[in-house]
Amino acid sequence: MKRKRWTIGLLALAVALGISGCGQGNTVSAAEPLILQVGPMQPVKPERAQFIGDKESLIEYAAPLAFVLEYPRTSNEAINNQILEIVQDLKTQFTEKYDLKDEKAKKRLSQNDCRSFLYLDYDSYLASDNKICIVFYETQEPGPGIASTERVHIYHFDTNTGQRISEEDLRKDGFLEAVSAYTIKYFTENEPYKDRIFGDYKITLAPNNGRFDRFALNSEGVVIYFNQYDIFPGSMGMVKLLIPYSELAGLLNGVGIEAPPVVEEEVASEVEPEKNNERKIDPAKPMVALTFDDGPNPVHTERILDVLEKHNVVATFFDLGSLVEAYPNTVKREIALGCEVGSHSYSHKNFNTLSKEAIAEDVRMTAEAFRKAVGFEPTLFRPPYGNCNDFVKSHMPLAMVTWSVDTLDWKTKDPKAIMNVIRSEESLDGKVILMHGIYETSAKATEQMVPYLLENGYQLVTVSEILQYKHGMQLEGGKYYGYNYFQ
Ligand code: ZN
Repeated sequence: MKRKRWTIGLLALAVALGISGCGQGNTVSAAEPLILQVGPMQPVKPERAQFIGDKESLIEYAAPLAFVLEYPRTSNEAINNQILEIVQDLKTQFTEKYDLKDEKAKKRLSQNDCRSFLYLDYDSYLASDNKICIVFYETQEPGPGIASTERVHIYHFDTNTGQRISEEDLRKDGFLEAVSAYTIKYFTENEPYKDRIFGDYKITLAPNNGRFDRFALNSEGVVIYFNQYDIFPGSMGMVKLLIPYSELAGLLNGVGIEAPPVVEEEVASEVEPEKNNERKIDPAKPMVALTFDDGPNPVHTERILDVLEKHNVVATFFDLGSLVEAYPNTVKREIALGCEVGSHSYSHKNFNTLSKEAIAEDVRMTAEAFRKAVGFEPTLFRPPYGNCNDFVKSHMPLAMVTWSVDTLDWKTKDPKAIMNVIRSEESLDGKVILMHGIYETSAKATEQMVPYLLENGYQLVTVSEILQYKHGMQLEGGKYYGYNYFQ
């Protein structure tokens, strides 16, 4: 309460000093004070995304399609149902456009045959005590030779009623004019925008041409999204502009909150593997490495870890940076049990389509996620979909590893079928088994697979250990360890 009064005081001060607004003659109605963010006044800065609810991650291979969809699950079921419907709609639209119609041909495809990718990512914000905003970023990569497209989808929800709130209900008269004026002023006065904005901006950014009908509310202000080619050359990609609430005083319905608690960006202390269960590896005996991709998953990875712990064995996990951020405790447990943990990229993009810069950015983001969660950066990388062309190989600083036995767990989703793949291998000595840590059926299969491997005399080791004991090699950054290493 104390803080609230202080922020209102700050606002009054700001108004008195004339530092609110850009000369639009905005007035603050006394009945509905808008609360400024506490802290130094910075007109534009990247907004801080807040995690609302839990992050749900759906990775689905349906070759030739692949889906990597992330969305929030809140404590409100009505909101969750609407979110699921939105996600399902996007999936259906993509499938109708790009799926292979020939069912027989489809059956023959494997994970490497995924060529059309749909990615969904999101930011979520607390806009006020009872309003949340979810911004979905949809990326469609239809396939080789077809340009990918990005779209933004914005939703506001009332957390008390679970109802969706339209942007029209959020804005008051004068909002469009103020937003238009601010946007034009900002883009024509600031680098790198002022020299690159298209000549007809006065028309495209006019208040009533629909450009400002959709906007996102976060804890600091109103965010407007401009698609590629909207008002700037395509090389600038999608452009976001944050307009602080102070610039739009009195023009929104009941929005404006106190500053969100600052999230401590502390680096986690390095997690030490348990010392008391040090393993002895006998180089003369057969060994096999189990690997689990696409996690961590707070349910299924945990169940896999239960199996490993029970039998005092290890595996290698190739985790996604975005999920490491969401579920750090599961990663900590992987390490505590002595498992090897590598990167499976930040958000499971198809690296064969990434630029040099995008690869570097992905490595950086993933490293940061790991550093914050467990105190170290991964040195091992398994490319999503196994896609690792020569360009990727020449620009990836981490050691790249593949697998040699594909259990097809993502496809069959059947523990029996998964076990049949394992049983049908004449020898598993020196091999790397590919599984996914995000399915219940894969966790169930692991419950059978680990005892099976132990009964058949295999030592369960990590990928690095296979390389060390079978090939006398230490992992080296930037080097590719392909299928022939693990035969
Ligand atoms: Zn994967």
